[in-house]
Amino acid sequence: MEKNLFRYIPKVDALLDNAEIKKALEEVPRKIVLSSIREELDLFREEIREKKLNEYEAIKRSEKIIDNILYRIKRKNSYALRRVINGTGIVIHTNIGRSLISREVMENVVEIATNYSNLEYDISTGERGSRYSHLKDIITEITGAEDAMVVNNNAAAVMLVLSTLAKGREVIVSRGELIEIGGSFRIPDVMEESGAVLKAVGTTNKTHLEDYENAINENTAALLKVHTSNYRILGFTSSVSSEELYPLKVKYNLPLIEDLGSGVLVDLSKFGLEYEPTVQDSINKGVDIVTFSGDKLLGGPQAGIIAGKKEYIDRMKKNPLTRAFRVDKFTISALEATLRLYLDEKTAVEKIPTLRMLTMRVEELEKRTKKLYDRIIGTVDHEICNIEIVDGFSEVGGGSLPLEKIPTKCIRIRFNEYSIAEFERALREFRIPIIARVYKNSLYLDLRTIQEEEYEILVEGIQYGLKRMKGCI
Ligand SMILES: *Cc1c(COP(=O)(O)O)cnc(C)c1O
Repeated sequence: MEKNLFRYIPKVDALLDNAEIKKALEEVPRKIVLSSIREELDLFREEIREKKLNEYEAIKRSEKIIDNILYRIKRKNSYALRRVINGTGIVIHTNIGRSLISREVMENVVEIATNYSNLEYDISTGERGSRYSHLKDIITEITGAEDAMVVNNNAAAVMLVLSTLAKGREVIVSRGELIEIGGSFRIPDVMEESGAVLKAVGTTNKTHLEDYENAINENTAALLKVHTSNYRILGFTSSVSSEELYPLKVKYNLPLIEDLGSGVLVDLSKFGLEYEPTVQDSINKGVDIVTFSGDKLLGGPQAGIIAGKKEYIDRMKKNPLTRAFRVDKFTISALEATLRLYLDEKTAVEKIPTLRMLTMRVEELEKRTKKLYDRIIGTVDHEICNIEIVDGFSEVGGGSLPLEKIPTKCIRIRFNEYSIAEFERALREFRIPIIARVYKNSLYLDLRTIQEEEYEILVEGIQYGLKRMKGCI
């Protein structure tokens, strides 16, 4: 009779008496141990109730119950947000954390966050100060803008700018720039939420200066340029640059706004990448307000930076949205420390992880790949897998330089018998998850996004993956 199977479910008291569970109780909060036991027993009971197990399986299940409970305890007792290893070669990978912050920058964050600070306190007067003051000097110094402020991310920055300068009025944008970036950020939707009215001009592939001029009326609040960061329109195209829009903005006395998206502060073409417009360029061309992200090509923490004319930024500071979008001290201290590195371009490229990875030369990558390869090759069973160094292409990611393919070196792993998808999953389920790229029955680890300190973990992770393939774990 199936009902009898319930007797294979151990009693909670008996489990609490088990030596391994007792040991766990010493190390882990009791709450976690108890809920792990309860969940495992509930699952067992349900499987019996739903007639999913025969007697033999129920016995096996009960023999494995301690291991299962210990596994649950381990999972519950670890962080939900965890580090992973990026083997994808996509440098600004939005799903796995965009830009890395260097330890040097984090030292400043630790100093500020573990002590009181002058966050909103003016040390010279002893009175209340502004959290927006700390970043103003460094941003204006680097970009040449008159004033600056910082909010939580660039989406918030765009929203704040439009809400302040154009609520209830029209903003002219080219149809070729009505972008959507990941996470449902669409320019027309953001504009609607901000209360501004979208006035789209031109066509998808062509917009001319007179399209903008013809759309200007007494209800026009601003001209907006949006950098099409994550795609390019190629072929029969024309668009109007902010430089060309400048005379129009002067003639009609309208603010010219530019959402740059990735907001690069050094000319990357000097380092072999495609030219991406810099914030300094936009300011030089007379753009009144530029917005950009802190954690894309800038290589800092998540933030939205607004740089431009003081008269507009003063108005933004008074907008109630500013309070909702305000940055905390973690962001301010990490961003200030990152921006300071830009005072010397060479230092920025060496010390900011995003820039360092993007500009790493293929010769250097080759050396690194060999080093990792040599360590892996000694530990694997060549009967079952084939490991090689191959050429590949890395990507910038983060919706920046969408067409740029940066030559790189990868370690490629292939199997004769085993499934590459299963191996990829095993790496993902390693103690420190390893995120790799799978293409045509091969798994690729791109060395551009792998740090030297991570080689040991990779060697261990690959061994773990191979053992799982062979059914040893
Ligand atoms: C990425 C991007 C945004 C959004 O920036 P977040 O910092 O992710 O909020 C807005 N506009 C453009 C053009 C972008 O590329």
